[in-house]
Amino acid sequence: MSSIALASKEKRNERTDLPVRRRDARRIGQVENHDTLAAKLNNLKDGDTISVRVKRFDSSRDAEAHFESFAVPYSKWMRVLDVLIYISDELESDLSYRWYCGSKMCGTCAMRVNGREVLACWAAAEPEMTIEPLRNVPVVRDLTVDRQPYEQLVLSLTPWLERGSPYPGFPEPFTHKEMKLASKALDCISCLACYSACPVVGLGDVTNFAGPAPLVQVGQMALDRRDSMDRARDLIERAGIFSCVSCYRCEEVCPAEIPIVSGVIEPLKALAYKRLPEELPHQNAFLKIIRRRGRIDPSELVMRAQGLLLLRSLGRAIRLLLRGKIDPIRTLFGRPIQDMGHIRRMFHFFK
Ligand code: SF4
Ligand code: SF4
Repeated sequence: MSSIALASKEKRNERTDLPVRRRDARRIGQVENHDTLAAKLNNLKDGDTISVRVKRFDSSRDAEAHFESFAVPYSKWMRVLDVLIYISDELESDLSYRWYCGSKMCGTCAMRVNGREVLACWAAAEPEMTIEPLRNVPVVRDLTVDRQPYEQLVLSLTPWLERGSPYPGFPEPFTHKEMKLASKALDCISCLACYSACPVVGLGDVTNFAGPAPLVQVGQMALDRRDSMDRARDLIERAGIFSCVSCYRCEEVCPAEIPIVSGVIEPLKALAYKRLPEELPHQNAFLKIIRRRGRIDPSELVMRAQGLLLLRSLGRAIRLLLRGKIDPIRTLFGRPIQDMGHIRRMFHFFK
């Protein structure tokens, strides 16, 4: 099928005739405000100047990172990568950035442009750009980051297959359903865009959360039906998987369009919960309350999850009470929601 035929099948918004984009909360309102990239690029023509601020840092020279500004002549179809190549060829030969394939395959050119994680080889240049290195990974120089801590973390989570039965020889028959989740995770190009975007990883040592990219690597194996390794303890203790708050920031920026939360992290959470339910008091309490009331009750959740340990943080509980965050009267006398039948059917369905 020709590319023209493929393009004509692209889903478009009936009202604006713009391509329908994936879910991304930050794009809401852009069409109405004429603030889309397409609208901005309409105002650019060959030879116009685009302004670029690049975050620079060289540990041998700089105490702190700083921004440098460049003026770059625009040419049609210019990518962020072309802008960087122009700067390093014509303006600042020691600018450091990393890229290999230039075609969305190797994942090495991920960086932040105007606050959003993108692949430089795939993102269009904008009239005004602030380019920064990825977050949550050490910066080696300028836009080049150190991938070693991420690679070591992935290795510590045993991202390889342990077969429960001997290899039957090629070809191994699989149904689509059996490989659906693992094959999505296999699209990962290890660009670390999701890792940079994750707010929980950004909290540093506050949690032991491994982050979305390492979990996608584990998911490639753990969600494969041939894998027999018991990964539940590692997922809970080493990867801190239940620290993920399902905010979907990782999915919004993934250039491979992997359903990181619904297709990888949630199935891995379910796998860990199934094997070690007794080690997850918070999740157990959550389920029990929903099953009984059809809604979450914050005070009951805290009491069930913490038990007698709650006495140690009595001051905090009183502060929550005074601020109306918890309501013991509602906990003791509140009724279940109407339509509890729906909730029971859901529990029965996902049993
Ligand atoms: S959904 Fe989970 S992994 Fe993804 S960005 Fe949010 S906290 Fe991080
Ligand atoms: S899951 Fe997506 S964003 Fe994250 S490393 Fe893989 S390809 Fe990049």
